[in-house]
Amino acid sequence: MTGLLQDLRYAVRRLRKSPCFALTVIGTLAIGLGATVIICSLPATAQQRMVAVTVDDLPIAETDHAAAGSVDTVEAKSINRAILDSLRRHKVSATGFVIDKRVEDVGETSGIAILRQWVQSGNDLGNHSYSHADFNQLTIEQIEEEIVHGERSISNVLGRRPHYFRFPLNHTGDTAAKHDAVATFLRQHGYKLAVCTIDNEDSVFDRAYLIALARKDHQSAERIRLEYLSYTGTEIDYYSGLNKQVFGYEPPHVMLLHANRLNADTIDSVLSLFEQRHYRFVDLDTAEADSAFATPDTFFTQYGWMWGYRWARERNVKVNGNLETEPPAWVVQYRK
Ligand SMILES: [Zn+2]
Repeated sequence: MTGLLQDLRYAVRRLRKSPCFALTVIGTLAIGLGATVIICSLPATAQQRMVAVTVDDLPIAETDHAAAGSVDTVEAKSINRAILDSLRRHKVSATGFVIDKRVEDVGETSGIAILRQWVQSGNDLGNHSYSHADFNQLTIEQIEEEIVHGERSISNVLGRRPHYFRFPLNHTGDTAAKHDAVATFLRQHGYKLAVCTIDNEDSVFDRAYLIALARKDHQSAERIRLEYLSYTGTEIDYYSGLNKQVFGYEPPHVMLLHANRLNADTIDSVLSLFEQRHYRFVDLDTAEADSAFATPDTFFTQYGWMWGYRWARERNVKVNGNLETEPPAWVVQYRK
């Protein structure tokens, strides 16, 4: 891929993730509106900070670096082992979101074995669709098909249907009709929506990291790991501030990570970032029991915004997405 194409692809990704780019267009307006935001502070007896950890794209995330569809089964096992060991060390009960087609790609036996390890380690599994297709490109019927087919290996391992669904790319329906129809379908099938409140662009860092590792450039790999952790800290603090702005208190967070090599190598430190900030790890049920998660879900967008931005729209709170920090350009532009 040429540099220009890669930059363009990244810009589109950013746009999908948060309203930063959209707000740039109306930046002046946003700054003006920002002044109207009321930031409430909790009394000294504030609740303990909480975070639920979620890991997407099980059994192994697809990356730009690997040829599409081809997966390294040994690497998938190694990544999941490292992540699960770390979750156990930090006493985290996480939820892993499964792409059923990736289970097939890894190989049925190995894929199912990885999912079993997740459950045996005290974690839950959720549905992340059959093929991780972009729902903006699908009809309502095709989306329903993706949801139902996505249950196969999870139900096999859990002995029941999954409780949570997470949309691929967090594309929850790009039109009102699609958003509402799919939300109704999920409800009727007993699903809870797995929202996420912190995104640290781990896929962008992982892509650069895989290139550095392939080149045996250990110095760059180390630098990428450090930048990743620094950026993750920045994003935790940013989204904490955002959600506080929206609700007047800090609701439990749901951290979005992916099953990739970078997280396998850094997850201990990622979890430590939360511990240093006095967060308590909770499961997804506990996090979503907070009233913030009962905020009406009527807002629709073609983008994969974090829920702080969506809740701001639902509650009519003006927030300035331009305040969100971008990952370092050298990581984004890291070339082969
Ligand atoms: Zn995903």
